Amino acid sequence: MEIVGTIEEVRKFVSRAAEAENVIGLVPTMGGLHGGHLSLIDAAHEACGYVVVSIFVNPTQFGPNEDMDRYPRTQEADLDACRAHGVDLVFTPTVEVMYGRGFRTVVNIAELAGALCGRSRPTHFAGVCTVVAKLFNIVGPCKAFFGQKDFQQAVIIRRMVADLNFPVDIVTCPTVRERDGLAASTRNQYLSPEPRGQAAALNAGLRLAAERIRQSHPTAAEVINAIRGHLATAAPGGKVEYVQIVDPLTLRDVEVTEGEVLVALAVKFVGARLIDNILVDSRTAGP
Ligand code: AMP
Repeated sequence: MEIVGTIEEVRKFVSRAAEAENVIGLVPTMGGLHGGHLSLIDAAHEACGYVVVSIFVNPTQFGPNEDMDRYPRTQEADLDACRAHGVDLVFTPTVEVMYGRGFRTVVNIAELAGALCGRSRPTHFAGVCTVVAKLFNIVGPCKAFFGQKDFQQAVIIRRMVADLNFPVDIVTCPTVRERDGLAASTRNQYLSPEPRGQAAALNAGLRLAAERIRQSHPTAAEVINAIRGHLATAAPGGKVEYVQIVDPLTLRDVEVTEGEVLVALAVKFVGARLIDNILVDSRTAGP
């Protein structure tokens, strides 16, 4: 496995791999690798002959009062995990490599970036899109892998790829969960035992909502109230930032739960803000 910090080295190794007719796969991460990241790496491995993982805590996607400085940096363990999962190249650039002096350009996706998490993190998705656009230009992947856990991110990246004609196929992989249903996240380790126990309520609330939607097609408001009720009882230490039911393509609120809808939520506990979502098709029996 190659571990490189410069753009020139990435280009050198990737062009060799491409000349050998490999499909190039990219998994962008901020490190602190867990089962969710590893599932993306495994999916990349299945579909691609050469797998690149980037590890970069991207400053432009953190707001001024967010957790950038204390974000877990676990490089040695991350590299071991990448080796164990057959990664070919790890790109670990510094901030200076990614954002040289005089950097000015920002990729912003109007409207989609202001929905859901964008309300409380108004600059977050511009930071994500900008760094992902740069990684696409640096690596030149045929396929790039993202998790459904960050559903809004995946929708926005797909929009950017279509709008800016990036020749890359975006693959979205299912959310990997802990045993009690909590979505795996680098930030889960910030939680002390009590909020960690309560955090299982996010997924439980979403699953209850999915069941109700499939059974009786309630209004969105009814489902949202039911989820909020569940969270109030099962996760009293969490402050609900939003619970919304939206169209999975436009991320606009829906009033009725018919056809395919995305139920998404964000809850702040002491130590970590957690997000989760479930895609529900009212016409099918579900998993
Ligand atoms: P991050 O390092 O948090 O920026 O995440 C890097 C990639 O891993 C993103 O595409 C995330 O959506 C994905 N990811 C994070 N957590 C999970 C999870 N629990 N299941 C699947 N993918 C995930």
